[in-house]
Amino acid sequence: MSTLNQIIVLLFCLVFLNLSYAQNGKDKAINPIVVIDPGHGGKDAGATTRNGIKEKDIALSIASKIVLLNDKLFENLLELFLTRYTDTLISLGDRTQLAKKLKADIFISIHCNQAINRTASGTEVFIHPKSEVQAEESAYLGFTIQKGLTDILGINNRGVKYGNFQVLRGNDNSNATVLLELGFLSQTDEAIYLTKEKSQYAIALVILQSIIKFLGL
Ligand SMILES: [Zn+2]
Repeated sequence: MSTLNQIIVLLFCLVFLNLSYAQNGKDKAINPIVVIDPGHGGKDAGATTRNGIKEKDIALSIASKIVLLNDKLFENLLELFLTRYTDTLISLGDRTQLAKKLKADIFISIHCNQAINRTASGTEVFIHPKSEVQAEESAYLGFTIQKGLTDILGINNRGVKYGNFQVLRGNDNSNATVLLELGFLSQTDEAIYLTKEKSQYAIALVILQSIIKFLGL
């Protein structure tokens, strides 16, 4: 069995284990539109690991795996769009403009963190709600993703926080909008974890399943 096949089998197991999540009973349209925004790109590398692996590449790699798994495991249950499919720099305005044009139900910006304190670790989720509904939806989406990353993958949970990021502010006030900091590239173990292909598949699957759970599909 090839490594890719082994990964797919492993992921299938994870899917079945976690389909026991209770549905939240939300009544949403079929094939909801989800925009995934791989942070940074092009000349903006974002954070880097000690051995030079860039946040922009990790973010794109995980986002691309979400698209792949949505196709292979869930028959494109979600209508997924990325703000960038290659290593290019897209303006923050264009990223949110895409979500607006598509009338996206969900907008998720993917990032990795770094800190001067090299022991800092874990996921952080940021929201910047412009309405009560958006606050509830975004916090619930963020909480669901973060719980999955912690409970299933064992990543330290630093909570859902308020963050004044343009890529959050620029969205409409109706969709669930979150910015994920998946872990710290400045922390050795997390940097190794986040740059591994297998871990990226696992993270992608948890994000995808969390979106599906959030939507009650
Ligand atoms: Zn970033």
